[in-house]
Amino acid sequence: MNIYADHAATTKMSRRAIEVMLPYMDQIYGNPSSLHSYGQRGAEALQNAREQMAKGLGCSPREITFVSGGSEADNQAVLSAARIGERKGKKHIVSTAFEHHAVLHTLDALKKQGFDITLLDVGEKGLVTPEQVEAALRPDTCLVTVMYANNEIGTILPIAGIGQVCRRAGVIFHTDAVQAAGHLPINVERDNIDLLSLSAHKFHGPKGIGVLYARKGIPLENLIYGGAQERGKRGGTENIPAIMGMAAAFSESQEKMEEKARKVTALRDRLIEGLSRIPHAVLNGDRESRLPGNVNFSFEGIEGESLLLLLDDKGICASSGSACTSGSLDPSHVLLAIGRPHELAHGSLRLTLDEENTEEEVDYMIRTVGEVVEYLRSISPLWRDLQSGKLPFMTKEA
Ligand SMILES: *Cc1c(COP(=O)(O)O)cnc(C)c1O
Repeated sequence: MNIYADHAATTKMSRRAIEVMLPYMDQIYGNPSSLHSYGQRGAEALQNAREQMAKGLGCSPREITFVSGGSEADNQAVLSAARIGERKGKKHIVSTAFEHHAVLHTLDALKKQGFDITLLDVGEKGLVTPEQVEAALRPDTCLVTVMYANNEIGTILPIAGIGQVCRRAGVIFHTDAVQAAGHLPINVERDNIDLLSLSAHKFHGPKGIGVLYARKGIPLENLIYGGAQERGKRGGTENIPAIMGMAAAFSESQEKMEEKARKVTALRDRLIEGLSRIPHAVLNGDRESRLPGNVNFSFEGIEGESLLLLLDDKGICASSGSACTSGSLDPSHVLLAIGRPHELAHGSLRLTLDEENTEEEVDYMIRTVGEVVEYLRSISPLWRDLQSGKLPFMTKEA
């Protein structure tokens, strides 16, 4: 078996996206800023892609800015809103403790510049309510930034309600929708979103391309100065092949969304059910308000890193949290944010599924994870102490 179960880290490109991209590499390769016919064909392609992205988000094409991916979109969104606030003497920002580092580290940088940051508690379920956001607002709040869905534990946040609270208070609302775009129906009007980030490689598009949606009237701050591309808000010759691939993958994901969500949710539920039977295992993240493909468990008495390596040997590609933190020995900030003690945060496993995964694969994963967890426990001093009663168990038997 060779199973890819790490779709929250990245996805393979769809055939359709690859085929759409190819002619933009060797035939329609003009620079959209050039006045000649080659350039004009590039400019037309760019406009088409912008319209497709806008259609999928329910906004106007003029509100779409092409950027290099989710991290850049998050940086530009948060920094732009902060500058708008600063000009009005408002330097308070509300966010959550389990945002992606592209948001959290941007907030760290703003803190050093005198901004006051409130990170909301996400509770054991990994959710925040509109009421929590409302209670955190102050007269000097300039931005609320709350992710649409969490990349590690898959929880889906009540974005429309949070957006409504912000709209009523006249505060700019940004959402990192990188895990949601292409998987959940998003509409910036219905959801009351002012700024939104998405990234193509999380929905079968190419890597290194994304979108920052900015509602009309919200001026963006440049991260990259240069030419007049993207209405002067992002210098640099547009990556037309990637932009075309993203638009194609996004349209395809909209068409397939419902059917795919049904199929992937069934696989997810089967996997959750199977892994729940392992003794002293606990599901991380809310059981209901959850992305179709996300499964995240902590197993007591083991190290997530060893679990990953052994699973890889058995043909299962998984993750112990976000790819961005693997390689570091710090436990996931997301698992700590939902109150998991260090030991449990270290023993975590994230399996993220897609429509290409099968029931056979799910059953193999249930069996194999069970065997590997049992093996690791058999050689774990921590597990021995738990079993002998020297240390208390933190989770239930099964
Ligand atoms: C992957 C991811 C990002 C970063 O996107 P890139 O395109 O890889 O820079 C940001 N936020 C979330 C929630 C993600 O899952």
